[in-house]
Amino acid sequence: MDKPAPAAQRTLFERIIAREIPSQVVYEDENYIAIKDIAPKAPIHLLVIPKRVTARVDDITDPLEMGRLWLKATEIAREHAADYRLVVNCGAGGGQMVFHTHIHILAGWKDGPDSDT
Ligand code: 5GP
Repeated sequence: MDKPAPAAQRTLFERIIAREIPSQVVYEDENYIAIKDIAPKAPIHLLVIPKRVTARVDDITDPLEMGRLWLKATEIAREHAADYRLVVNCGAGGGQMVFHTHIHILAGWKDGPDSDT
């Protein structure tokens, strides 16, 4: 069996999945984990992360895999909020900082996304 890659070669989110870095897990199954964002940009800010690593969302080429990821994100979002925003930052120029594909769930504002609360 292959040895796991050294920590330096694994993504931050792989290390979170392996519980090497603590996080607040709100959902997990064999293919996905969802955690609370460490620096929330909304009252509810979750990250839905596929366990199969791709650097960015457009590296996913299988329609079923892409569809399942978005379906999972909507299911998790609906468990936390009636209304919400799903965001993917793709590439450094798109604001992506962690190069392990993830979908942001943002929700919980009193008066919509532009309000302070
Ligand atoms: P990106 O900019 O790549 O789309 O989003 C990365 C997100 O990961 C950011 O919203 C950032 O706050 C979050 N983040 C970075 N490091 C950690 C961490 O160690 N734990 C958690 N839970 N979130 C993190």
